[in-house]
Amino acid sequence: MKERVDVLGECLICKARGTVIRRGFFERKSDRKIIQKYYCKKCRKFFSQQTFSYDYRLRKRYLNQTVFKLICKGVSQRGIAQILNIKQTTVAVRIKKYGFKAREHLEKTRRTEDLSEVFFDEMETFEHSKCKPLTIPLAVNPKNRKILSLSVGKIPPKKKLTAIALKKYGIRKSEKKKKIKEMLMYIRRYRDKNILFSSDQATCYPNILKELFSKYEHFAFKGKRGCIVGQGELKASGRDPLFALNHSCAMIRDNVKRLSRRTWCTTKRIHMLEHILYIYAYFHNLVIDKAPLLMKNLI
Ligand SMILES: [Zn+2]
Repeated sequence: MKERVDVLGECLICKARGTVIRRGFFERKSDRKIIQKYYCKKCRKFFSQQTFSYDYRLRKRYLNQTVFKLICKGVSQRGIAQILNIKQTTVAVRIKKYGFKAREHLEKTRRTEDLSEVFFDEMETFEHSKCKPLTIPLAVNPKNRKILSLSVGKIPPKKKLTAIALKKYGIRKSEKKKKIKEMLMYIRRYRDKNILFSSDQATCYPNILKELFSKYEHFAFKGKRGCIVGQGELKASGRDPLFALNHSCAMIRDNVKRLSRRTWCTTKRIHMLEHILYIYAYFHNLVIDKAPLLMKNLI
């Protein structure tokens, strides 16, 4: 009997074309769903419909959509566990799985978005203690407020805390430039010239842009005092030239529990903050697209 080539056309492991065949089914234990299995004749590996999905090897699949929405609507991990009557680890495991997929999805978003105009800035938070601050460089498309790119890096503490921090935790090196570069590099993959950048007047931005891009324009606006209702991100007076960016930042602060002001829920591990930010970016962009707030687009 002639073997049929799979509709995917491409092996998801070795990326070879036309080498994948269907190889039976299995019944997924957790929800009794029948899953198609595949086999690649080139790399001789088996995989299935679910191998590369966001919920691979998760059992309580009925929780996925709710956990996703709660993460992105300002509920803490413990809060989610209490609301849904599940363990906190059940939530943490999901955050990791979704995070990796959401990161891939943001890559896809950059591929399709119009990158001719980019606003970028940094948000600040900390891990564990205010003596260990973090910076979150992020870029936004000003036309539709979609989040385009982000990263997280360590920075040394502010003046008042320098002495205490040094005594308690030792020297903390700044990853500021490295991480801003990393964030802008994600954009450079898809467009490296004719971009209109806008940011505040931080001194390191012009040099970094010069290093990374060939033809570009950079507008630097003077920073303004934040207003209280906008989580300190929305600015107090008059028209804000970086409104699209500051509005997205205010939304992140409001919707990501650990970033909201005066909260108990602080970041303990940087990679978890990163995962949650990527998940939120996915959610944020779905809301702007008016798409259904489901995880299924992550596959
Ligand atoms: Zn293969």
